[in-house]
Amino acid sequence: MNRKTGKRITAAVLTLVLLLGMAGTAPPARAAAKKLAAITFDDGPGPYTDRLLDGLKARGVKATFFMLGSRAEAYPEVVKRVYREGHQVANHSYGHPDLTTLSDAGVRSQIQTTNQILDRTCGKGTSYLVRSPYGSENSRTRSLIGAPLIFWSVDPLDWKYRNAETVKQNILRDTFDGAIVLVHDIHSTSVDGALAAIDALKSRGYELVTVRELFRRRGKALQKGADHYSCKPTGKDLGPVKAPVITNEAESGRLKITITAQAGARIYYSIDGSALNGESKRYTGPFYADSPCTVRAVAAFDMNGSRSEEAMAAITRPTAKAPRIQVENGILTLKNVTEGARVFYTLDGTAATTASTEYTGPVELSPGTVISACAGGGELLSSGEARAVYSHRGNFFRDIFPGQWYYSDADRAVSEGYLYGMGDGLFAPEKPVTRGQLVTFLYRYSGEQAAVEELGALPFADVAPEEYYGEAVAWAYGRGIVSGYSETVFRPERKVTREEMSVIFAKFLRYRGTPVPDSKGAAKKYLDSEKISPWAMESVEQMTAWGLLAGDTNGKFLPGAGSTRGQAASVLMRLADLVVSS
Ligand code: ZN
Repeated sequence: MNRKTGKRITAAVLTLVLLLGMAGTAPPARAAAKKLAAITFDDGPGPYTDRLLDGLKARGVKATFFMLGSRAEAYPEVVKRVYREGHQVANHSYGHPDLTTLSDAGVRSQIQTTNQILDRTCGKGTSYLVRSPYGSENSRTRSLIGAPLIFWSVDPLDWKYRNAETVKQNILRDTFDGAIVLVHDIHSTSVDGALAAIDALKSRGYELVTVRELFRRRGKALQKGADHYSCKPTGKDLGPVKAPVITNEAESGRLKITITAQAGARIYYSIDGSALNGESKRYTGPFYADSPCTVRAVAAFDMNGSRSEEAMAAITRPTAKAPRIQVENGILTLKNVTEGARVFYTLDGTAATTASTEYTGPVELSPGTVISACAGGGELLSSGEARAVYSHRGNFFRDIFPGQWYYSDADRAVSEGYLYGMGDGLFAPEKPVTRGQLVTFLYRYSGEQAAVEELGALPFADVAPEEYYGEAVAWAYGRGIVSGYSETVFRPERKVTREEMSVIFAKFLRYRGTPVPDSKGAAKKYLDSEKISPWAMESVEQMTAWGLLAGDTNGKFLPGAGSTRGQAASVLMRLADLVVSS
């Protein structure tokens, strides 16, 4: 009851000070500097540290823990809790020796081993303030340690008295604005005495902060290799680190996350629920997250001891499903829509957004229209984009689009029935073509029929006449357009290489009586011409001279590379044009 009243009065006074500051003619000052003190706990963690952490949490107080590496190894979960709850983790050597009695290597090992143990919690490469055991040091240990050295200005001798009331009274007697208070969290009486002292100090207007915050708020630097006993008022208080603000908005079907913090503070965050430390992701600008997820973020001047409370945002807004584009007889319908979602579309090739035309019913299309659609609206995040084309020849594709080099040829090959789509609007342009398929495309294009005797004369054990390619292989073999790997093996399921395709197409053109150009040496221009097999060379040169095949952008022919459906459609249509013109 009393404490509550006290709080209200303090709040009222603060408000008044602010108002006076604003009314004055002097430049508006920051809120009056608070009395600050840093309470530090040495030699732990130990069995009482969790109780101490409960007490600090209940009081909203942050402290600094000068840990022994050996104790940190024994209480890893407590180290994690100290860090997680925003206290400062610091180094008090590994085994509490008098460092001045050790060799150089011994001093380094005491400090570095402990740093590595603490890094497991705080993140690799975190910098730790150091307090030498017994406060014992000399210029040699100072330079070997190479970190700011923290002493104390208030020593209640808690280890000696082992009495909570005495500890409390001693702290209250000696603490001043800017003091660093030394206590040991390995004694139960010290934990009780320190918590009681904290209550009394708070009622006297003190704010208890970490050592790093004490110096940062007063604009004083902690110097490496120098001793620090206190940080007296400088007339300046930069104030506590404010928690960052996490906002989100839907953009182009995804969730854009923006995190803001006060000037000068870095932002660390995670979106997979993982705990934050010095190794967490650094925020550099808005990013996208998939729903649902949990964004955690802190603002920090130093993740170890000078950071804000954690901000957290659970992203639970459901995402609409992308609509299903269907085109039949030139009529567009958009289906399979998430309940409550509105559907939007464009017909000009740009990506649909929730600002595009809203779909209200079937739409008549003209050939050569690219359709883009998405769903969203209301509480739903907008879906990803669905895209398809009602082609120039009236075909429907979901996976090939105008502008792709094989688009027109694939559209034409499908319209003329040489290649079929894979169903459901898929052309599968990147899918490899097999020998059986390539011969089938050519057979359909030829418009010819395999003769009965050709079917009967098929010598290949791996080509059954009833397979979809059976008639085609019989026709091609009967006319000398294809041969097998041996007298009885054709390998219809084997992926066709570019040099095999050259041979099959060139033989077809010769069979059709297409005039053969002077092509000797035409393959020499390919950088990898020596890789072309002797049995394929003449055909590759003729295909090159006809202009049916060319090298890639690097000037290579790639004779052993597979051929895709997109390529096969393209070469077949060029072949068809050549036959017509010759
Ligand atoms: Zn100690």
